[in-house]
Amino acid sequence: MHTLLISDLHLDASRPGITGLFERWMASDEVRTADALYILGDLVEAWIGDDDDAELPARIASATRAVSDAGVPVYFIAGNRDFLLGPTFARRAGLTLLEDGTIHSVQGRPTLLMHGDTLCTDDVAYQAVRQQVRQPAWAAQVLAMSLDARRAFAAKAREDSRAHTGSTMESIMDVNASAVAEAMRKAGVTRLIHGHTHRPAIHRFELDGQPAERVVLGDWYEQGSVLRISPEDIELRGLPVA
Ligand code: MN
Repeated sequence: MHTLLISDLHLDASRPGITGLFERWMASDEVRTADALYILGDLVEAWIGDDDDAELPARIASATRAVSDAGVPVYFIAGNRDFLLGPTFARRAGLTLLEDGTIHSVQGRPTLLMHGDTLCTDDVAYQAVRQQVRQPAWAAQVLAMSLDARRAFAAKAREDSRAHTGSTMESIMDVNASAVAEAMRKAGVTRLIHGHTHRPAIHRFELDGQPAERVVLGDWYEQGSVLRISPEDIELRGLPVA
């Protein structure tokens, strides 16, 4: 009895080692015997549309499809890198799309699941961009471009993101404590799991007099990062590449 959660793999053709690690892990007994697998966003470095004919989306689809065919539900919440991932790819990949901020019972405990970027409310510039690009009209406009034009557009967006991250204070790019408390209160939960900040940790604190937990998933840049929850235990661990 265990549920697995991952996020922020940032899979990209330029880092084949991590793609291989993802594929091996997806084929492992740990995944194939899980009650469910949750991917909480930024599975890829950049998603340019479900019609992308590159090798990487095809490899991802076959890895996730095999897990869902084995009877393990694979849930996906979009991150800021892959919010253009839609129902067409989800069907092909055996993914069940969930809204950011879904509450699921994870091993019997009501759990708020988010990518995490909406909690970074101190980063006003980022939130403004987010609001703009999450408009349906923006997505329609981008998806109407040719694949080549979208690839160039995604490369530019990554550079802009890197420039912003490089010039913004660390504390501003972390979650805001009031935003966390508000989201958990609204959801009526004492456990929140999210990614995005690449600061893996299990934070224990008090929320309105109750013991509460915020679990932050790790990124997959140098190695993998997996959260495993069983009825009696919660474990956040690294996954070595070799
Ligand atoms: Mn993110």
